[in-house]
Amino acid sequence: MTRPTVAIGALGGTIASTSTDGAEVVPTLSAALLAQAVPGLAEIADVRAETLAMLPSPSLDEPTILRALRWAQDAVDAGATGVVLTQGTDTLEEAAYLLDLFWDRPEPLVVTGAMRSPQAAGADGPANLLTAVRCALATDSRERGVLVVFDDEVHQARWVSKTDSMSTSAFRSAVFGPIGRCVEAEVAYGVPAGRVPPLRLVAGLEAENPRVPLLATYLGDDGYVVDAIRAEDVDGVVVAGFGAGHVSAAMAESIGRLARQAPVVFASRTGSGPTGRAMYGYPGSEIDLVARGAVGAGWLSPVKARLLLWALALGGPPGRQDVLDAFEVRGRP
Ligand code: ASP
Repeated sequence: MTRPTVAIGALGGTIASTSTDGAEVVPTLSAALLAQAVPGLAEIADVRAETLAMLPSPSLDEPTILRALRWAQDAVDAGATGVVLTQGTDTLEEAAYLLDLFWDRPEPLVVTGAMRSPQAAGADGPANLLTAVRCALATDSRERGVLVVFDDEVHQARWVSKTDSMSTSAFRSAVFGPIGRCVEAEVAYGVPAGRVPPLRLVAGLEAENPRVPLLATYLGDDGYVVDAIRAEDVDGVVVAGFGAGHVSAAMAESIGRLARQAPVVFASRTGSGPTGRAMYGYPGSEIDLVARGAVGAGWLSPVKARLLLWALALGGPPGRQDVLDAFEVRGRP
């Protein structure tokens, strides 16, 4: 019987982290070893495994993720039914969203990881990897962009976040929920396929790394950090604001000054819900920040808003209208 081909690319993380003395773990396992450790995997797919990096995920960066994107595109072009990437969970929500912005194939690209390392009792890596492969092979996973599979749930890359530092059910899509469940060997979706069209990744821009810092505001913030940013050093700035994207009156002044020279996007630091549009009019409110030239992130979390602005800045600083249009389309369900 011919089996479908799945490509598995490994980037490191806890799912690949082992220890020689039973103490602290570090990334060591190759993609081939990860695949070999999954019971039943060889029966459902021909696996093409490749180790793309061996890093803890806090040390991943955008160029590394875009190299993984090109590898995944090549794998599909070479005949893979679907692709799975494994990586650390700490930045998984960001990597998955960056991939999703540019994933231009109907085939599924699924990202997964683990909260427990392979030598731990009840390690979740093999189960997550098997479920991710099933998801990558499922016909109903096509045309959905990049998916995150964790703890038997399927999430859309743009809404999922890591919401717990230790739990094996660390990933949630706070507002919209998971779009699917993996039960026994089946992947069941509660919503029809469909996605926001991807951005075009111009050849040669993968190695660029625009500087788009993310700042969180806080009680008593007087704008000191924003004022310390030299506009010529950044390609854009994202501010994680209070509530629906609000900041203090002093911070609003700082944002207004910066927004005259570089794109500034404000998001909500709450972990759930969109930035406001039309409710509050005080200095530092959403209406005030937009009037000063900033752009609301909509439903995108601060880290995902940062990646969208980063992607828009590839190849040169984006104009305000480009930023507004992109967040209008990609910042809503
Ligand atoms: N705690 C992380 C993980 O689950 C470490 C990392 O992100 O590399 O993989």
